[in-house]
Amino acid sequence: MDNNNTNNTAGDEKSCEYCNASENERPIFTTDFKGRKLHVCARCLPGLIHG
Ligand SMILES: [Zn+2]
Repeated sequence: MDNNNTNNTAGDEKSCEYCNASENERPIFTTDFKGRKLHVCARCLPGLIHG
């Protein structure tokens, strides 16, 4: 029972904190922001970079 890709409701799967996309939809990047971990997807990351 390792690595099953069913719908998740809990667990440690990452999802974007801006649009809630899961890592099954888009790549999710983990970065440090204001002293904490921030999860942001490939789509929202450019907006984050540009302010
Ligand atoms: Zn996003």
